[in-house]
Amino acid sequence: MKLIDAHIHLSDAEYTGHLDELIADAKNAGVTALVTNSMDLKTCINDIKLAEQYPNLVYPALGIHPWNVNVLKENELQETIDFIQKQRGITKAIGEIVLDYKYETIWEKQTLVFDKMLRLAETLELPVIIHSRGTTDKIVEMLPSYNLKHVLLHWFSHPMSALTKALDNGYFITEGPPVIYSNGIREVIDKTPITNLLTETDGPVTYWKQPFSGQLTKPSYIRNVVEAVAEIKKMHAEEVAEQIIKNFEAFFKIKIN
Ligand SMILES: [Zn+2]
Repeated sequence: MKLIDAHIHLSDAEYTGHLDELIADAKNAGVTALVTNSMDLKTCINDIKLAEQYPNLVYPALGIHPWNVNVLKENELQETIDFIQKQRGITKAIGEIVLDYKYETIWEKQTLVFDKMLRLAETLELPVIIHSRGTTDKIVEMLPSYNLKHVLLHWFSHPMSALTKALDNGYFITEGPPVIYSNGIREVIDKTPITNLLTETDGPVTYWKQPFSGQLTKPSYIRNVVEAVAEIKKMHAEEVAEQIIKNFEAFFKIKIN
């Protein structure tokens, strides 16, 4: 079974020293593509290196995550934009980008960075990978004013009204291990057509529930995610995995061998 991890952070410090082992485990489990999402200029640079190190397996999504806007160095926003523009061709998406109400104190800076990242996606004609927390309605409302190729709402949890609108707009949804134990996420899977769905781990995010508790999050978890999706959708796991490969190819314009 071929599997996809459409959202992971391979440049995160928690993975330092574990990457070769992690990639070997992923390949062994059938993972054929990983999209590594950056957070700032440093991780953008490293994600490009990883894409070169693991060709036809690791693909970079570059951008500035607004949790980092308060620690951005002078000119880092512009330098990151310049860097991403130079990586046109190898960059497969702009991500991970976010609007998060939990970080309301930096709201103005967040919205500025978010807008710049969306404009960059327009210019480079790249898909965007978005995380929203408490802002999903607002984001789904504002995105049609941008000329975006494809939109992926990562770890979509609520509200269901925004899910309906997002699906009407042709957006994709990506979900990970919570599919196994969260009723809310299972409902999202139930309501999302299989043709709009991708799978992710968001590693190194740690999952505290069984069967993943106490481990460094691995792309090989995707097999469990696919099996849980198959159960909800009343499909065979193989069939789910095949459709997710097709969705991935259509969304990122990447051909899986
Ligand atoms: Zn993430």
